[in-house]
Amino acid sequence: MWRVAAVRALRGGGAGVSRAASGAAEAQLRRRLENELEDIRGAGTWKSERVIASRQGPHLRLAGGGAGIINFCANNYLGLSSHPEVIRAAVEALEKFGAGLSSVRFICGTQSIHKDLEEKIAHFHQREDAILYASCFDANTGIFEALLTPEDAVLSDELNHASIIDGIRLCKANKYRYKHMDMQDLEAKLKEAQKHRLRLVATDGAFSMDGDIAPLREICQLAQRYDALVFIDECHATGFLGPSGRGTDELLGVMDKVTIINSTLGKALGGAAGGYTTGPKPLIDLLRQRSRPYLFSNSLPPAVVGCASKALDLLMESNAIALSMAAKTQRFRSKMAAAGFTISGKDHPICPVMLGDARLASVMAEDMLNRGIYVIGFSYPVVPKGKARIRVQISAVHSDEDIDRCVEAFTEVGRKHGAL
Ligand code: PLP
Repeated sequence: MWRVAAVRALRGGGAGVSRAASGAAEAQLRRRLENELEDIRGAGTWKSERVIASRQGPHLRLAGGGAGIINFCANNYLGLSSHPEVIRAAVEALEKFGAGLSSVRFICGTQSIHKDLEEKIAHFHQREDAILYASCFDANTGIFEALLTPEDAVLSDELNHASIIDGIRLCKANKYRYKHMDMQDLEAKLKEAQKHRLRLVATDGAFSMDGDIAPLREICQLAQRYDALVFIDECHATGFLGPSGRGTDELLGVMDKVTIINSTLGKALGGAAGGYTTGPKPLIDLLRQRSRPYLFSNSLPPAVVGCASKALDLLMESNAIALSMAAKTQRFRSKMAAAGFTISGKDHPICPVMLGDARLASVMAEDMLNRGIYVIGFSYPVVPKGKARIRVQISAVHSDEDIDRCVEAFTEVGRKHGAL
């Protein structure tokens, strides 16, 4: 109907003057959008989406064929996305608490399971309280504006995730961007920021493109010296970094020095969706009053809450899953290095195979899929020019044989395309 009316309006028939005018505007918009899309294709940065016809897991079936594909590109670090107990918990929550709340939290969207999950998250991170969001993207866009005023300052690593960058854009604090993990630059910026009332250093705990881990010990020392608070985004750390999977702060022994943690329920913790902030109680109380993505967006659906809650139970019972993932990461990293590849980062299940050339990364990723290995090539503008790579992500549910097949395929494909 809409299309027919628009076409009529474009032809000047039947829809009246205002419709014809908006038809012309729409035609202009379409031309502009098509040009922009063409530019993206021309720049070689078009992102196409492969359709998966099975559950998320180490082995996938792709729509239109491709069964038995070994998957190395999900953030399913602990393999909980399709864990039978996680699925059962979701079904039980769905049956008991319904499909959804049809409401934001403060009107009539809070159930006992939301409160229980918030308590569990705070307990897991050893913090005072926690608040749930529909995603960590929302948690990141909701925190800075609620917390910081024009009297304050935020100091952000230049390679922080897009959602931190957007969250900082939304706030009125004074903004400082320090060079990636460069402590000299952070110190210089902290000195400059002494004139403000409050300073907040914001960093990813683990950076998703490089698999590198923020030098939190040094960051916390500088924060102490220059009277600043530390915020970390733990999306690629929660559940598996540190002796009991608490994250980067546990790994680096600074759990008592990091004030605020944002993280996701959509990666290692069951992979469904959702995010959270955990930290001091007055901060969480303030977010419930002021944080816009929390106040003006629907509550997390019960099935999603059920998944995350069960994932946390499994992690708090034992760290066997996280240890298994760490062993597989080690196996992949050492075998790839022995084969002659350069893998960025250290000890993290994000294993970027550094290739340099964008075309090489894309052709090799395609050829890996022909050999049944699903990996993704990243190039500019997602990563800096000349630093194209194929990102491999290891999961606890990969078998040793899966890892070895991946290394063999990389070796064959790398030789074929001159990367080795
Ligand atoms: N922060 C980081 C570092 C991420 O990698 C992501 C997801 O890609 C997010 C935040 C957003 O998380 P969510 O998917 O829960 O919105």
